[in-house]
Amino acid sequence: MSDDGNNKRIRQIAIYGKGGIGKSTTTQNLTAGLASAGKNIMVVGCDPKADSTRLLLGKLAQRTVLDTIREEGGDVELESIMRTGFGGIRCVESGGPEPGVGCAGRGIITSIGLLEQLGAYTPELDYVFYDVLGDVVCGGFAMPIREGKAKEIYIVASGEMMALYAANNIAKGIAKFARKGGVRLGGIICNSRNVDREFELLRAFSAELGTRLLYFVPRDNIVQRAEINRKTVIEYAPGEPQAEEYRKLARAIDENQMFTIPKPMGQDRLEEILLEFGLMDAIKDDYRI
Ligand code: ADP
Ligand code: MG
Repeated sequence: MSDDGNNKRIRQIAIYGKGGIGKSTTTQNLTAGLASAGKNIMVVGCDPKADSTRLLLGKLAQRTVLDTIREEGGDVELESIMRTGFGGIRCVESGGPEPGVGCAGRGIITSIGLLEQLGAYTPELDYVFYDVLGDVVCGGFAMPIREGKAKEIYIVASGEMMALYAANNIAKGIAKFARKGGVRLGGIICNSRNVDREFELLRAFSAELGTRLLYFVPRDNIVQRAEINRKTVIEYAPGEPQAEEYRKLARAIDENQMFTIPKPMGQDRLEEILLEFGLMDAIKDDYRI
């Protein structure tokens, strides 16, 4: 990507995937990796849990964008919603209403609007990452891609059936918006759950979806150890193999050239692929009485 301030484009990337799959952990580690390689980054947490930037900031963001607006009214300054974390990464948490009250996606719409209004998307930024919750791309959570803010999407998944089921549903949403706008799927990131034949399964699943397995992130307890210390592995243990995995993932994204409109599969085909890799048998074994 060219560096001459004038015509450089900010790569805006949305990370989707089932809740608990590792979106926030993976996003923060890979952006920490990109920042270590000299990139300028903003991370926008789009989950009412507001924990998308904890490892970069070394603490939970004190106030989300919605909290700030609630407390200060419309007259908000950029400094009160944006904090600087590890490697100079700019961190924003959208926040959301209490569970069960109103559209949880509203925080994202409000936040992106406010960030634009306050001039947060400055030309020196190389990347903006949106860490978006959800098993399906709907309502406010679709906003980063529906409105064409993020043109590039990665889905975090694992070899577990519900993770793949969610990934396929997310792909349905992406396909719908891709046909209307310029949004594309950049690949699948496997965050391993140590499922049998997980790599092969994810590779086959990705190919069926018309994309590719961009990177396979191993499961490693160093992630939890770093997390307890409120740090990414990149910061906490830069010499550990897992830190190198995240740096490689960062490079894979930085160098990625393959962007496609996904071809979501029917439930039958999804189950067929799972069967092919023995997962359904494994599940049946687990539940055998
Ligand atoms: P999400 O943002 O998708 O809801 P999180 O990033 O919060 O999920 O991840 C859930 C938990 O999984 C985290 O508490 C983290 O400790 C753990 N985790 C994520 N990735 C890994 C990994 N590669 N190895 C070990 N643990 C992981
Ligand atoms: Mg999260």
